[in-house]
Amino acid sequence: MRTIVSGGCGFIGSHLVDRLLDDGHSVTVIDDLSTGRLENLISQKGNPGLHIVEADCNDYDLIRPLLEGVDWVFHLAALADIVPSVQMPEKYFKANVDGMFSVLRASREANAGKFLYAASSSCYGIPDFYPTREDAEIRPMYPYALTKNIGEQVAMHWAKVYKLPVISLRLFNIYGPRSRTSGAYGAVFGVFLAQKLAGKPFTVVGDGTQTRDFTYVTDVADAFITAAKSDIKAEIFNVGSGNTYSINLLTELLGGSVIHLPKRPGEPDCTHADTARIEKMLNWHAGVPFEQGVKKMLENIGYWRKAPVWTPESISDATADWFKYLE
Ligand code: UDP
Repeated sequence: MRTIVSGGCGFIGSHLVDRLLDDGHSVTVIDDLSTGRLENLISQKGNPGLHIVEADCNDYDLIRPLLEGVDWVFHLAALADIVPSVQMPEKYFKANVDGMFSVLRASREANAGKFLYAASSSCYGIPDFYPTREDAEIRPMYPYALTKNIGEQVAMHWAKVYKLPVISLRLFNIYGPRSRTSGAYGAVFGVFLAQKLAGKPFTVVGDGTQTRDFTYVTDVADAFITAAKSDIKAEIFNVGSGNTYSINLLTELLGGSVIHLPKRPGEPDCTHADTARIEKMLNWHAGVPFEQGVKKMLENIGYWRKAPVWTPESISDATADWFKYLE
């Protein structure tokens, strides 16, 4: 297949690119390298199936010709992280909504065989039910969550109006190698691994009993490809591990001392995907057990040497706007 991966130099995108190339597909990556890194695809250097184009998804005239004759478009290019999205909502809207619209429009013009959208489980906010089904109420708590959800709504609308074959995957707490995307305070694995390497305590929010549906990144690449291959369209699926794990379990598996931080507004005590829909309709389920995924992260801990080491003080500064706006 001829495929496009926007955001292919990012964390999840680069794993998807690896898998597509391994499966014998050709891949054109569109990435503006704002948070993605060429280093993430270093192992594919010289691969004739890979073509990397440094471009902003908003540059319609540049990206449109790249999509000519494309079979599958995977749209993963986006800005992540909560705090910067609260501080710079316009930047997030431009990247995550306008950029997505540009790729969607190019996909329709190019008659793409499938448009796969990387949506976020953050659309559920603090849900009423666990595990959470796709038809749960949409409650974005911060601008990042809102922009990713608007992107999904636009894509699903285009599926309906223009019959564009769209599938949206709502991703739950994805972790794995290369998850350090920028210097911003972000996902817990990067924070803890850098702390462990520096011999500093893990900064556990609250009492650490909160749980997350930690899903290994290669399982997500598999979900995208399964969705692309299927005849199904105009559907939304949760992508999760099928389980939920506490932060205390994570610190136990990683091994090290712990220090506690105040709980934060808008953070759910649990994320847990109901995966019945994707299991039934796409026959997909996650394959990497949590303990095995954590082990792989520990084996590659050297990667985090260049990552910032967060302390309770620097986290307090970095999250000041979180408390200010989301309280
Ligand atoms: N977390 C933590 N210490 C940190 C960063 C995060 O205990 O320094 C916790 C956080 O409270 C949450 C979980 O780890 O319960 C996952 O956080 P992350 O930001 O990775 O994902 P999200 O909260 O957006 O699901």
